[in-house]
Amino acid sequence: MTSKDNKSQTSASGIVESRVSKAIRDISPYSVPAIDCNIKLDGNESPFGLPDEVLAKVYDSIKDVSINRYPDPEAKKLIGQISKATDFSNEGILLGNGSDELIGMLVTTLADGTGKILCPTPTFSMFKLTSLAMGADVIEVPLDDNFDLDLENIISVIEDNDPDLIFLASPNNPTGNMYNSGKIAEIISVAKGVVVVDEAYSDFSGFTFLPLVKECKNLVILRTLSKVGFAGLRIGMLFANDNLVAEINKVRYPYNINSLSQAVAEIVLGEHEFVSENIQLIIRERARVFNAMSSIDGIAAYPTDANFVFFKAHDADLLFNELVARDILIRNFNKPGRLENCMRVTIGAPEENDAFLAALNEILSS
Ligand code: PMP
Repeated sequence: MTSKDNKSQTSASGIVESRVSKAIRDISPYSVPAIDCNIKLDGNESPFGLPDEVLAKVYDSIKDVSINRYPDPEAKKLIGQISKATDFSNEGILLGNGSDELIGMLVTTLADGTGKILCPTPTFSMFKLTSLAMGADVIEVPLDDNFDLDLENIISVIEDNDPDLIFLASPNNPTGNMYNSGKIAEIISVAKGVVVVDEAYSDFSGFTFLPLVKECKNLVILRTLSKVGFAGLRIGMLFANDNLVAEINKVRYPYNINSLSQAVAEIVLGEHEFVSENIQLIIRERARVFNAMSSIDGIAAYPTDANFVFFKAHDADLLFNELVARDILIRNFNKPGRLENCMRVTIGAPEENDAFLAALNEILSS
């Protein structure tokens, strides 16, 4: 082939059309708006940094990390700590570069290519995005009027389609509520495929399905350090029966948890006190913010078990822009259909919540 032929083969959009699968071309990317605001209440992160004495331990520990070497591929020390804290065997735990990566590993292992994935909707968009990218079929079942699982519909989809994977985020993102635990248990018992209960927000709900993993061979639990103060570390945790973990582990990239994250996570996991104090503070603030929002005309706030409040406004786009003009960033889900004028605000530090509530009152009364 001459260099001219070569050029015309790879020209313009040809390479994309001929070599990128239609499934990927059709995906809308996961978008994080590039808007800088001082009050950042859009990402469901913790507003609190590390206390000085913990920061000192972190600095002390990372100076010994040999970044010229690969990390421990198995993150043995960290997994050992998580095992102790959860009373779960090392073999039943897998770590990911955030639970995002674990979602990818689950889809690759269980539903790559021709598999079927069931997820309620609306829910965390990465379930669908990852599944479509891997060529799986996604069956979406709308949540009921209270954003709880529509059990009848889900059971009928399971009976008709036998999905390989079912993703249930409880508490759910973006709606904030926990699903009825009896319904989740029923789905686990009826499904022949794997049921993933994503407990990214369970530290704020105080409820977990973790003990059930020992009895239910098709149950996988996902957790993350991202919501309780350590989003920058990118540490997600998967709990399942040993045989399933061994299979999922085969698709894991060898050094997926970098050395610095391993070192820092080993320190912060030993520091329960400030982490649980911060969680309690967020839970108290959540009640205060929810009650205040519920008393504002023009806002319908939905009950929440997570570290954020989902709500409906009269004009979400206008409200979003007015908040940004006041240096406050929240998440705008506004699009035609069920999410019309829907928004989500993360619970921040008390003074950030005060600023958000004051801005909301000011904007909606003008
Ligand atoms: N699951 C749910 C339900 C989430 O809301 C999020 C974060 N947006 C994740 C998983 C991803 O968390 P991580 O930071 O561990 O990748």
